[in-house]
Amino acid sequence: MSRFLSRIYQTLLSTQQVTACLSLEGLQNLAYKRKRILLKTCLYITFIMLFFFSSLHAFVYQSISDQAFILELFTSLVALYAIMSLNRNPSRRNTDKIAQLSTLAFAAFLLLFVELNQNQNFSLIWAFFFPIFAMTINGPKIGLRYTLVFLTLLLILAYNGIGHWQAGLWSELGFIRLTAALLILSFIIYINEISLVNARKQAEQVLNKLQTQSTTDELTNISNRRHINEVLLKAIKNAERYETPLSLTLFDIDDFKKINDQYGHLIGDKVLCEMVLEIKKIIRATDDFGRWGGEEFLIVLPHETAESATQFCEKIRVCIEKMTFSECSKHITCSFGVAELQQGMTAEQLIDQADKALYIAKKAGKNQVQTAS
Ligand code: GH3
Ligand code: MG
Ligand code: MG
Repeated sequence: MSRFLSRIYQTLLSTQQVTACLSLEGLQNLAYKRKRILLKTCLYITFIMLFFFSSLHAFVYQSISDQAFILELFTSLVALYAIMSLNRNPSRRNTDKIAQLSTLAFAAFLLLFVELNQNQNFSLIWAFFFPIFAMTINGPKIGLRYTLVFLTLLLILAYNGIGHWQAGLWSELGFIRLTAALLILSFIIYINEISLVNARKQAEQVLNKLQTQSTTDELTNISNRRHINEVLLKAIKNAERYETPLSLTLFDIDDFKKINDQYGHLIGDKVLCEMVLEIKKIIRATDDFGRWGGEEFLIVLPHETAESATQFCEKIRVCIEKMTFSECSKHITCSFGVAELQQGMTAEQLIDQADKALYIAKKAGKNQVQTAS
């Protein structure tokens, strides 16, 4: 229980969560964590309160046959079951399922409780918790639907109770006050929840854009140098862990200055983009293609040995050689350096090996693939 209370504090109040938010997934996880903690808090309160009241009925007032006792005991056990289910399976799907079931159980309990109590001692006050619970736990849209159905049923009961409830004291004025207060409260909670959802959506859009901008090359739309470096580090870790081969190729367009000089920088840019699109068609979904800088590119080739990677680069080389461009009548060629990860090699050493092989390819007359020995 104390662990749970400290988790409530961390999730709802702690600023540590801000760092967890700095990714789209982190933001969505945080929203679910908040929902789960809120739901569990409500369920714990419901369980403790109703179990206490039902015990009071059973042991102090000694009225075990009382309908209120049965209702309270049953609902407290439903809350306990929901808590256990959430602890056992905290997945998003189960959280959603338990949230919906708890809302239905809460609505049924409140309606029965109101009918049994006939608003003695202002017991209707508990009904005010329903819109708050329904909309914070299920989100504003689904929560509003639950709230409207609940309010309709509650107000039908309250209307029928005029002249009977509170030993005949419950009047039309009381009914109108209750209706107005519940509608205003529901409206305020709905607006508040909608604004929270919208703020989160905006934050998600901004994060999405920032994530794309920080990982993508603006001109060619493939991975930028920073991202391809991260991908390479991850691929090296995987290759070492699962003992699978990993190769990479660094390649550079031959005599690209001449294209720029003859056609201008803008057409040079277009040539780069068209070449990238063509290479994207050849590489597999598991290969990662990035711009290393200028007209130099890097492809990470998981599960490829130096030999198979060399064959693959040969295929790309031939494809580029044959390419025609929309605004440039010249053909282009590329030189490739291939290297395979050896045990204990760092990412820098692997790139360095490929770079050396690329240098050899340029020296040996360009438009060829060289493999690091
Ligand atoms: P080499 O065969 O030795 O590679 O000759 P190169 O002319 O391609 O020489 P190098 O790779 O050293 O030069 C790269 C040239 O590519 C210089 C630069 O003007 C051009 N370049 C680099 N980035 C871009 C770009 O984003 N757009 C365009 N249009 N040109 C670029
Ligand atoms: Mg070049
Ligand atoms: Mg270059």
